[in-house]
Amino acid sequence: MPSLFQQIQAGTLWDFHGGIHPPVRKSITSRKPIALMPLPNRLYVPFRQHIGVSGHILVAQGQYVLKGQALTSADNAMTVPVHAPTSGTILAITEHTSPHPSALPENVFVIEPDGLDQWRPRQPLNIVTADQQMILERIQDSGIAGMGGAGFPTHIKAGMQQPVDYLIVNAVECEPYISADDALMQEAPTTIVKGIDILCKLLNPKAVLIGIEDDKPIAIAALKAACSQREHYFVRPVPVKYPSGGEKQLIQLLTNKEVPAGRRPADIGIVMHNVGTLFAVAQAVLDDHPLISRIVTVTGETLRNPQNVHALLGTPVADLLSFCGFQAEAQQKVIMGGPMMGFTLPDLSVPVVKTTNCILAPTAQELPDAGPELDCIRCGACAEACPATLLPQQLLWYSKAKDHDKLKEYHLSDCIECGACAYVCPSEIPLVQYYRIAKAEIREQQRETLKAEQAKARFEARNARLDAEKQARLARNQQLAAERQQNQQQTGAKDAVAEALARIKAKQAESIAETSHDAIVAERELKKQQAREYQAQKALQAAADQNGEADTAPAHDDPRQAAVAAAIARAKAKKAATEAISETDPATTPAIDDPRQAAVAAAIARAKAKKAATEHTSEQLAQQVHDVPTSRSDTAPAPVNEDPRQAAVAAAIARAKARKAAVKSEGEEG
Ligand code: SF4
Ligand code: SF4
Repeated sequence: MPSLFQQIQAGTLWDFHGGIHPPVRKSITSRKPIALMPLPNRLYVPFRQHIGVSGHILVAQGQYVLKGQALTSADNAMTVPVHAPTSGTILAITEHTSPHPSALPENVFVIEPDGLDQWRPRQPLNIVTADQQMILERIQDSGIAGMGGAGFPTHIKAGMQQPVDYLIVNAVECEPYISADDALMQEAPTTIVKGIDILCKLLNPKAVLIGIEDDKPIAIAALKAACSQREHYFVRPVPVKYPSGGEKQLIQLLTNKEVPAGRRPADIGIVMHNVGTLFAVAQAVLDDHPLISRIVTVTGETLRNPQNVHALLGTPVADLLSFCGFQAEAQQKVIMGGPMMGFTLPDLSVPVVKTTNCILAPTAQELPDAGPELDCIRCGACAEACPATLLPQQLLWYSKAKDHDKLKEYHLSDCIECGACAYVCPSEIPLVQYYRIAKAEIREQQRETLKAEQAKARFEARNARLDAEKQARLARNQQLAAERQQNQQQTGAKDAVAEALARIKAKQAESIAETSHDAIVAERELKKQQAREYQAQKALQAAADQNGEADTAPAHDDPRQAAVAAAIARAKAKKAATEAISETDPATTPAIDDPRQAAVAAAIARAKAKKAATEHTSEQLAQQVHDVPTSRSDTAPAPVNEDPRQAAVAAAIARAKARKAAVKSEGEEG
């Protein structure tokens, strides 16, 4: 049995469950060339035209912008920028009715074209030398999002890291009336194939499968011719059946693979891009042409000239309709998208955006309103038609009951809102409207749940933080208490030490005081002793003065007095010597005529006199010492040296002074 890949190579096709065959009505526009619309008076460029978040504004009101100039920045993965579709002035940055079933206002750049259509500088990439990152950045910076209706950022799908088996090009334009992709494939197949080449460089798939409905023979031929040089590119015409252009349905048609509920095609090795998206990728990478325009099928029997129009993004629907000869009826209904999945516009001022593939302005007879809604008869026709193998009547029941749990259980999220169920419903129940409302409620509930979870998480985080702070505070308080206690203990020990030191100091002071007292007493005693010595000395002196002879030299502390005394003593000694010589018998004394003998005799006499004086002095001192006790009471109140040692000292002092006086007198004589 051939493998799956061999079957695919052989051109095998499979089928999907359900589907319907509404009137196609594509031929109204599919055989006409694409019309180029003149510049409108105003362009309303919404900030966000894709699934994701809008970028930051790069321009200001009143600013002149060039064609292709970025108006917002792509600063995160889920953002693609928007660009000025032509050169002109930013008249306003304001709110405008959105091209959405809710018709809620959204932010737009209002641009007044200057008619010059002047481009900004462009820098095409060389696909051979450019690396993957450069290409992905170029795709994102060019503002490319899925143009088949989803609006998912293309660079994310083009940059996925999972291995890819098949790159599927969705050229199945299954909605009735719409022929924009058909027209594009007829007129620009080569550019589309270049876009496929770029995606193959990024994803490196085993094969490229180009699915296209078999009622587009010109487009099929054009693409086959453009792909003729690519061995692994396969153009696969598929039977006309609505909604074969659904992502999961086309995958099943071409590969017999089913995308599990809640999973993505990438999970089974498949990536799908719309054919118009690949055209935009080629323009962006090879021409540095950002996504500023697209092909829009403007059709319906109220138009004199229904056709595919090359329209700038931001072009008001009213301008498109006017360009195609719109002749409005009473109660005119204008639909953005096809009759199956489109929505009625509340306002014709809404602009063309990246996902706008069709503007349908039918007559009342052409597309009559649905009749009054009747009760479900449980015929089961809806289930047979559902391509997602859902149970639409059960979903209807639970949608009305707002039983969201049951809706999840019945896989409402897998509903592609194709409208096949409603199309076959005999009770004309607008099933898709119920599902959309239920989905919106579930999304809102999920948002609320998420907000509640986030609030709960914040609350728990706050509580945890407060608990942590409380614990930290307690721990800190405990630590402080412990430190305080420790400090107190240390302080107590210090106090004890201080007290001990104080006691020691007190003792020392006491001791010092005692010592001082002793010192004072000792000093006083010393002074008394000195006074006694002085008195003793004085007494000695007085005694010497009283008892001594006139020639006895008193002890003088004053050197001059001592010198005078010494001089007196010498004079006395000399006199004594002279008298001794003269008293000598002149008979026995020879007359000395010889001068030298006379000098010798004189010297002898002086020696004798000195000896006599010395002996006399010694006797005087001895007498002084001996007389001190007796003279003390007579002479002075000098203290008595009863201590023998003090007496000895005093005696020694007296002797020393006497000796000194004697020596001095000798020196003066010599
Ligand atoms: S097709 Fe309509 S009437 Fe029939 S089961 Fe479905 S919802 Fe009910
Ligand atoms: S709209 Fe949903 S439920 Fe109805 S047929 Fe389509 S996929 Fe099924």
